[in-house]
Amino acid sequence: MSIIAEKIEQVVSQIKQFCEDSQRKPDDVTLLAVSKTRSTDEIREAFHQGLRCFGENYVQEAVEKIVALADLPIEWHFIGPLQSNKTRQVAEAFSWVHSVDRLKIAKRLSEQRPANLPALNICLQVNIDDEQSKSGCHPDEAIELARQIAELPNLKLRGLMAIPAPTDDPEQQHRAFKAVSQLSEQLRLAGLPLDTLSMGMSSDLEAAIAEGSTMVRVGTALFGSRPAKSVE
Ligand SMILES: *Cc1c(COP(=O)(O)O)cnc(C)c1O
Repeated sequence: MSIIAEKIEQVVSQIKQFCEDSQRKPDDVTLLAVSKTRSTDEIREAFHQGLRCFGENYVQEAVEKIVALADLPIEWHFIGPLQSNKTRQVAEAFSWVHSVDRLKIAKRLSEQRPANLPALNICLQVNIDDEQSKSGCHPDEAIELARQIAELPNLKLRGLMAIPAPTDDPEQQHRAFKAVSQLSEQLRLAGLPLDTLSMGMSSDLEAAIAEGSTMVRVGTALFGSRPAKSVE
């Protein structure tokens, strides 16, 4: 068995276990393989081991891989910071964007989504507890922003995404993910039909699943540690 195959098997069985531990169905949690900095050969192999959803952070790198892997029915998710001048490429090449945190970006994605493609799936990124991070809207802005995004014609608002401040403390991990879950519940009570919580990475899967994650974004646990990446 290849190393990637073994790691995929490990992560899939961990997800199953964490779901059982919290009385959830394993099918309710999608494994999104974060393939930034990974070669097309590695992605191809992960695909052949059964993975279908892949997440990328850097527009240029992603678009090149998407073209090279066009023979595979992969569902591509954009999860990195998104600037206005890159929205067209993202609107044209991806099925999902997890990192929308302001209306201007959402409007551009909606305007630039090609008419022959289904609506672009969107998660609103929320800055749940990381004062240092500039990504993500403030939780207090989430309802209003979600309402406005939900009105845009070529987008489908699916849920929330969060990257809590990194910590090894399980209690702190749970606290942050619970806050995202509760915010999502508030949005649902406000009438927004959300079905996705994009939260949890290699080092905090257990807490994320226990607190209701429906999509975990996993890179290093599947592919090994990444080389440092400079800016695009
Ligand atoms: C890189 C990245 C991940 C994956 O992180 P790992 O710790 O490698 O699992 C998940 N989400 C986002 C937004 C990322 O940029």
